[in-house]
Amino acid sequence: MSISKKRKFLFFFLGLTIAYILWFSFHLLRFKTYKPDPKTSSSHEIVGIYHIHSTLSDGKKEPDKIAHIAARSGLDFIILTDHGEPNFASLKAKGWKEGLLMLSGTEMSVNRGHLVGLGFETPSQRFSENAEQAAHQVNALNGFTIIAHPYSKISWSWGKYAGYSGIEIINADSMLKKNIVPVLPFLPALFIKPGLPLLKMLNRPEKNLRKWDMLNRSYKTYGYFSTDAHLLYKPLFAFLRLHVLLNEPLASDFKVAENQVYSALKKGRFFNAADAAAYATGFRFWGKSGTAKIPMGASIQFDAPVTLNIQLPSGLEQKAYLIHNGKSQPLPPGNPTIYEVTQAGVYRVEVFLKERTPLLRNCPWIISNPIFLREKNYE
Ligand SMILES: [Zn+2]
Ligand SMILES: [Zn+2]
Repeated sequence: MSISKKRKFLFFFLGLTIAYILWFSFHLLRFKTYKPDPKTSSSHEIVGIYHIHSTLSDGKKEPDKIAHIAARSGLDFIILTDHGEPNFASLKAKGWKEGLLMLSGTEMSVNRGHLVGLGFETPSQRFSENAEQAAHQVNALNGFTIIAHPYSKISWSWGKYAGYSGIEIINADSMLKKNIVPVLPFLPALFIKPGLPLLKMLNRPEKNLRKWDMLNRSYKTYGYFSTDAHLLYKPLFAFLRLHVLLNEPLASDFKVAENQVYSALKKGRFFNAADAAAYATGFRFWGKSGTAKIPMGASIQFDAPVTLNIQLPSGLEQKAYLIHNGKSQPLPPGNPTIYEVTQAGVYRVEVFLKERTPLLRNCPWIISNPIFLREKNYE
């Protein structure tokens, strides 16, 4: 290469680097996570992370280290889900750690894919590798199961109803593997403002949402945001969170607190949020029939007038949609919004952030669990 050619190449490379640094700094400086209005009432709302691996399976940190990171991230609880049928060592790791409630379930490899079991009493022998049988065994031990990354086998592999309690609507690990290329230029931000690259990789989980809505037509299934964290715990703990609504403050006794969280999850008393974009604290979705309150996750017979009430986190530009049997309609502005129900069916809410955010326009910031208003003759 001649000297002038070499120089040209060097200038081109230098120009490209400067352009990249400018572009990167622009995005980095513009990015912020919106924090909740301090006046927001968040009574009995606790925040946690579901689906985490430790060194007791293929994760990179020990349970206590993970709990330490979680406690410093301001979380109330985390749920370990180490691989196993079940993972007995991981089940023993649970407890209060630095003021954080560390729960442990297990992620089982069954014939249909990966199935997470939570809240079960320790079994005397291993769970079956048959998905339906494993779900039945977990249920018999007072636990419940969640279908993990349901499309890891590309097409639906879970057959018909087998008593699963939930389904993962977003699995961060699967999404990162799928969307790594467009996120590459943002990756250096992982160590400065990790919310930026993580939010950039989120796409609307169209297939999972469609399947979830379909399942809900026949039986109750609750939707989960799952981090599936094996490493990068700190960034992931700020990313996708479950907001669980309790009836009372979280107890200090471990057994009681564990039961509070699991029974709320079992009943669908929680919503999911990409908190790295904005803290979703204060969101609420409930029904009212006369003086009776219908909590999120509940199922009732639709034989009297019902209103649905949606309260959005305050102080942010946002747009909420009501999804009825999979069909989306914008909710009128107002906070709270009250919607008079005229038809039976499954209702849930998606909220989109209208502030400046790396979240794609079609990607919801909050996804509630449904309220089921069943026809009179519904079993
Ligand atoms: Zn898995
Ligand atoms: Zn996993």
